Amino acid sequence: MTGLRDPLSRGGVRKIIAWWLRTEIGEGGVFTIADAEKMILAKTGVKRVEVDRRIRELREARWTIANSRTDSTLLQDQHRLVHVGDDICDPRYRWPQARRCSARVRRIVFMRDGRTCVICGTRDREPYVDDPGRLARMTVGRILPGSRGGPYTTENCRIECDRCNEAVQDRYDYGGEAFPPAA
Ligand SMILES: [Zn+2]
Repeated sequence: MTGLRDPLSRGGVRKIIAWWLRTEIGEGGVFTIADAEKMILAKTGVKRVEVDRRIRELREARWTIANSRTDSTLLQDQHRLVHVGDDICDPRYRWPQARRCSARVRRIVFMRDGRTCVICGTRDREPYVDDPGRLARMTVGRILPGSRGGPYTTENCRIECDRCNEAVQDRYDYGGEAFPPAA
């Protein structure tokens, strides 16, 4: 998953996205992942950043960002900045440790589950059967999500693709039902 070492990986890209959303998109504004990628490329020269993942992280910092599944007025590739949450660009802002997955847990979970989404079965970097234009990317997801106090332990973590991970998070962000049983 890592490939080239991204010099901005320690929260830099996340801060740039947060800053851009707050100052240029604004609450109520609509953007696409492609807009964000273009902006980051222009500002930093960095390609292939995982914007989806950064958006999920912002949600953990109390940002509300809707997509077409949660807001029917949005097109499939659109997102809406509904609410600006914590000021993560403030150098004094401390990202709670409990919201991070340690490298050790990540390693163990990847070894155990492989590079295949345990929910939909798509393999890392392979196209989705129903959306061949999109390549799956694996991430570590929590079975009981963070919003319900789920910890980043090996027992509570599993490999999920970005798409399944987003779907699970949305269900929780918007007051969904019980979590489906783990595969
Ligand atoms: Zn999946």
